[in-house]
Parts: sequence; structure tokens; C-alpha cells
Amino acid sequence: MFQDEIRVTARGGKGGDGMVCFFREKFRPKGGPAGGDGGDGGDVILVASHDVHGFHGLRGRKWLKAAGGEPGGVAQMGGKDGEDLIVQVPVGTEVRDSGTGVLLKDLAETGDHVTIVKGGKGGRGNARFANSQRQTPRFAEKGEEAEKRGLLLTVKLIADVGLVGLPNAGKSTLLRSLSRSKTKIAGYQFTTLGPHLGVVELGHSLRITFADLPGLIEGAHEGRGLGDKFLKHVERTRILVHVVAHDPTGGSPPPDEAWQTIRKELSLYSESLAAKPEFVVLSKCDLPGWEESLNSLAKASDAEVTALSAVTGLGADALLRRIVRALEPTE
Ligand code: GDP
Ligand code: MG
Repeated sequence: MFQDEIRVTARGGKGGDGMVCFFREKFRPKGGPAGGDGGDGGDVILVASHDVHGFHGLRGRKWLKAAGGEPGGVAQMGGKDGEDLIVQVPVGTEVRDSGTGVLLKDLAETGDHVTIVKGGKGGRGNARFANSQRQTPRFAEKGEEAEKRGLLLTVKLIADVGLVGLPNAGKSTLLRSLSRSKTKIAGYQFTTLGPHLGVVELGHSLRITFADLPGLIEGAHEGRGLGDKFLKHVERTRILVHVVAHDPTGGSPPPDEAWQTIRKELSLYSESLAAKPEFVVLSKCDLPGWEESLNSLAKASDAEVTALSAVTGLGADALLRRIVRALEPTE
């Protein structure tokens, strides 16, 4: 349910090759071996961070590759080690080997980390192979190949915003249309993680998770084992967005009735859920006569109602702004 999941392959950096060369000095035309060692390849390390709330930053990446070590140099200069690749993942990430399914690490606390693959060792330069019998070794070691490992990362997400509303109110469409709409809130990204879940990313540190609650509640009725755990999760939701349809065809109940029906259901389902701050929105405001629906809904709910249309994109920006304002920490 509220789960983000991703598969990716981690690969350490290859070790740098050892160098073959000899000192060449004015008065020592045949100097000794001088090839330096290659640098070690970098490791791939995952670290849990509170600033990350899902794997959208990793989506589309097949590989997590650390840098290789540089080859050894002349005059016994060692090659530079390859930098480790340090990847931030959300707190609560479970790291599994994707082949065996074995849990490698549960990154439960911020700062918890795990080295997934080690880089290859750097090869030794020819300077290392000189001895009394062999004064001019003309060979060096190759850098070691690095480890590689397929990973399955999973994390449970907390929904910040719960969408509620009657069937056909437009909840799924709203989730989907957020991922398409070009609102003025600069450069935001919306990822739909499943039929009932989406994450909006606004800038660096603000990510908002949307969950279609009735969709999940219906799922619970189908016996998918959501149960108490699910309810607990839902109760951490901070805001409800209550979607009511404007429907001039009469297929849906009038907006004021629709709103009341859901309010009643909510308080039967969970008092604490019903007590959450609620943003009321009217969907389908591309169909004629919506202004009237807006008024009657505002009256019934005694709330500021945001007019939305998935067709024209109306209101998406305004709704996101309201949500951001409500969720942003206040000083
Ligand atoms: P849900 O049951 O609340 O998830 O509702 P859906 O998102 O599945 O929408 C129900 C129907 O309303 C679908 O046929 C949608 O295409 C339609 N719909 C949703 N939003 C809009 C909208 O803004 N304008 C119009 N004209 N139709 C919409
Ligand atoms: Mg739906």
C-alpha cells in the first residue's frame, strides 16, 4: 500500500592498474623500477536521511556506480582512490539482495548506513615486484574488478494528504492529473507510485505524499489484510482533500449532499480521521454550471472551496499552494 520500491544494481569502482616504468636520471640511465600502485575503487554506500522521502530521486537509474581508482603513476606515485558513491535513502529503507531476497540491512534510524559493494583493490606497480633476483620487473598488477550486486529497496511512506470523496468524484483523476499539470509552483514533480498513491516533490526538501483513502479502504474490504496497521497509518495523514464532483448530468448527487454523505462516513470510520483539517474541492469545473455547485458546496461545508478541472488544469496550482502552506513547518 504506502510503499515505495525500487530495483537497482550497485557496482563498486574498479581498482586502478599498477604502473610499469623505470627511473630515468641523467647519471643513472638504467634506474630501478618506479611504477606506482593503482588507487582503490570506491565503495557504494547507502545512508538513511530524513531529507529523503521516497526513491523518486533514483527512479530511472539502473546503476549505482562508484568511481574507479586511477592508475599508478611514475616515480612510485600512487593513483588516486576512486570516490565512494554515497546515496541517501529514506529512513526506514529495507535493503535486500534482489536475487536472494535476503535482508542486508534495515536502515531504521537517520545516519544508519551500509556498504553495499566494495571497490576493487588497486594493482601494485612494478616497483613492488623488485627483489635481489629480479631487478627490472617489467610487469605490474591489474586493478581488481569491483563487486556488483542487485538491490531491492523498499520503504513505507506516510501519507501527508488523504483524498476522500464518493466514487466517481474524480480522486484518481486528480492524482494522475497532478503528474501532468504544469502548475506555477516551480519545477514540481509528481510521481504516481500506484493506483492509490502519489508523491509531489517541491524543491529540495518538501515532498508531499497523497493517498486515495477510499481506494485503500475498499481494498481493505476486499480482504487484502490492511486492517489495524492500515488504520494507524491513515491516522498519521495530516490533511484531507475532500473531492466533490460537479455533475450537470445528475449522475452524481448534488455537491452539498455528496459532501455530507462522506462526512458522515468518515466519522463512522474513524473519529480522528474526521477531525483532520479538510480542504474541500469541486472537481469537473469544465462542465457548464459549476459556479452554482461551488456556491452550494461552500455553503454546506462552510469552507473555502477550490474549483478544479483535470481537463483545463484549473485549480491544481491553488490546491497545491494551500496544501504546501498547511504542511510547511511554522516557525
Ligand atoms: P474516483 O472514483 O473518485 O477516483 O473518480 P475518477 O477519477 O475515476 O473519475 C470519475 C470520472 O470522472 C471519470 O470518468 C473521469 O474521467 C471523470 N473526471 C474526473 N475529473 C474530471 C474533470 O475535472 N473534468 C471532467 N470533465 N471529468 C472528470
Ligand atoms: Mg478512483
